[in-house]
Amino acid sequence: MNDNLPVSGPSGAPRIIARSDHPISRSSVSQNALRVLYRLKEAGFEAFLVGGCVRDIMLGHEPKDFDVATNALPEEVRRLFRNCRLVGRRFRLAHVVFGHDVIEVATFRASNAPAQSEDPTREEEAEADAEIGEAEVADAVEAEDEPAGESRGTDRLMHASGRILRDNIYGSIGDDVWRRDFTANALYYNIADFSVWDYVGGAEDIAARRLRLIGDPATRYREDPVRMLRAARFEAKLDFELEPASLAPIATLRHLLAEVPPARLFDETAKLFLTGHGVASLRVLRRHRLLEILLPEVERYLRANPDGLVEQLLVRGLANTDERVATGKPVTPTYLLALLLYGPIAAAIEQLPPQRWHESTAISEACDVALRQAQQRLSIPKRVFFGVRDLFALQPRLEHPRGRRALRLLEQPRFRAAFDLLQLRASLGLASAEVSDWWAKLQETGIEQREQMVDAAPAPAAAAGEGEGPDTTSRPRRRRRRRGGRGGGGSSGGGGGSAG
Ligand code: ATP
Ligand code: MG
Repeated sequence: MNDNLPVSGPSGAPRIIARSDHPISRSSVSQNALRVLYRLKEAGFEAFLVGGCVRDIMLGHEPKDFDVATNALPEEVRRLFRNCRLVGRRFRLAHVVFGHDVIEVATFRASNAPAQSEDPTREEEAEADAEIGEAEVADAVEAEDEPAGESRGTDRLMHASGRILRDNIYGSIGDDVWRRDFTANALYYNIADFSVWDYVGGAEDIAARRLRLIGDPATRYREDPVRMLRAARFEAKLDFELEPASLAPIATLRHLLAEVPPARLFDETAKLFLTGHGVASLRVLRRHRLLEILLPEVERYLRANPDGLVEQLLVRGLANTDERVATGKPVTPTYLLALLLYGPIAAAIEQLPPQRWHESTAISEACDVALRQAQQRLSIPKRVFFGVRDLFALQPRLEHPRGRRALRLLEQPRFRAAFDLLQLRASLGLASAEVSDWWAKLQETGIEQREQMVDAAPAPAAAAGEGEGPDTTSRPRRRRRRRGGRGGGGSSGGGGGSAG
């Protein structure tokens, strides 16, 4: 399976980088991760930090979490830690829990199965079960019930396509390394002597900011097509470049992503766009033509309206989201999907007769159309689905505040996100800046003064008080309506404005 490895094969010895020759100090490792590593070591096991945390420290970044790899079996790990639970059937892992902090401890595995962090969600397991058929599920359940299945034996389940669905074959560190995705993610920090073990030239690739798949790239993408999205994510997040041999197969294999369980694609999408590098992720996904698989309608809209208002809105919204992540503010998949689907929602609205464009029922219908299209690939949780609808349905109500009812809108759980969307639209001329500013001021005003504010609502707000009917008072809207929405209508896609 590893015939095409560019560097030393599974039996090859690692390059061992001594403590004096790498930047990882114990002070850059969390106390909890150190506790886990030392406890394993004291019990006589091998214990390493592995994956993103080692890579990030090498890059001078602060890791977002710490993953441990060991030769202790999951049961053995459980016995060592009272605060430990075993999770995952596809990939059995130990979670050592310290309040909110979870240290993931994975036993070395001897195959190319997708790795530990894919602690499968319940939906995903259900999907895997659906795909593998009942007889095999019975086997899987048997293995689950039988802790004896946790020997260094064989417990592998493979989809006809070559995709690995479950894999609990344990091995040594020299086996474990070959199933990891990128060389940069395959460095091991040894707690026994603080050295870094490098089987695949990962240290060099990190220094060169190069992303390289371990093994034969096409095979690795076929095994787990999500690796194509992971490549895009790491390029965006780390500002690395995918080296040519790892890039090339994407051109012919990207369609395989369409077969990945939608729950997993949703999770990956959230990681791409909600972890602080969304603008870069969009750029890389489009460059590798992966967005057209993940969200075909979004790509289609953007392509039909290059540099249009909707693209500007998306990029600006993602930049705001990145900024929020950078400053530790919460971000939500609902707002993200509202941004991503703005174009398709605008397109769906433009399919309707212009006199309906500002009706909230029409807006909701358009949201449903766009959300259902997106659901072909991503499993969108219900709360997100209805959340997106609410964000859009609230737009006309925010644009036409009506007396004291405006105050009730402030109490809406979705108000804040809907206001953010209004503000974003206003920043691009897709909604009235005056109304947006009025809402901003209203929120900063004390309760009593708020009543005065709505009683004396500003002219544009009051003038628009008629509600549902088309609003010709604001320039951007008039512009949109004149241009009509035909065929995605260029920047009038801002018609997406009509999404409000
Ligand atoms: P991040 O900083 O985003 O968490 P990460 O590298 O830690 O990045 P995880 O998804 O947390 O990524 O995975 C942890 C490690 O598990 C990776 O570094 C990699 O070694 C391995 N891994 C995760 N997913 C896969 C996969 N699909 N195929 C192969 N190896 C994987
Ligand atoms: Mg990680």
